[in-house]
Amino acid sequence: MSIEHEIASILKITPEGLKTRVARMRLGETCPRCAGSGRYSFNRVDGDRCFQCRGAGNILPRNAAGLEALKARALVVAQDGTLEAYRAGVAAEKACKDAKKRVLDAWHAVDALNGYDKIWRDANKPEHAEIVRRNKICVDAADRVDLAFTGQSMRTSYRKESMVECPIARLAILESALADIAAVKESLQTGERK
Ligand SMILES: [Zn+2]
Repeated sequence: MSIEHEIASILKITPEGLKTRVARMRLGETCPRCAGSGRYSFNRVDGDRCFQCRGAGNILPRNAAGLEALKARALVVAQDGTLEAYRAGVAAEKACKDAKKRVLDAWHAVDALNGYDKIWRDANKPEHAEIVRRNKICVDAADRVDLAFTGQSMRTSYRKESMVECPIARLAILESALADIAAVKESLQTGERK
């Protein structure tokens, strides 16, 4: 087994994915072309992205000594929990795919049952309080996801706030938002059966 394959197996990644994992975990060597910034002089194809490291700022070592040193660093992160935390983050990022679309789809499915879109002009009439309450739960849920994933909230006139950086925290916000909307849908469907 080549040392690259060994390192890939320590880092729990395919040999094809090794370069990216090493760069993202910043376990390789600082890219000599861009000194780790990921940026180099502007060109029409890559913009100012460094073509040697593809913007990562960190590259696989190219000689045996460098690879041995990388293997040692890989063994450390595999044992001290850094690798597991990184992989959990990657998994959470995958699970967050299309977050905004999923929340909006769920909200629209509730809207069809709730009928807020039909009463919104008369939303402040007391007989519509329950529809308004259910709509507000969906708005709140969608807004929390917006804020966490993009840093923008419809409540603050799209003023830029700070987004949630940690993918695991973002996933928890997405899951709680989807659960809130699902609960509204469930209550509407239960109501229909009565
Ligand atoms: Zn570079």
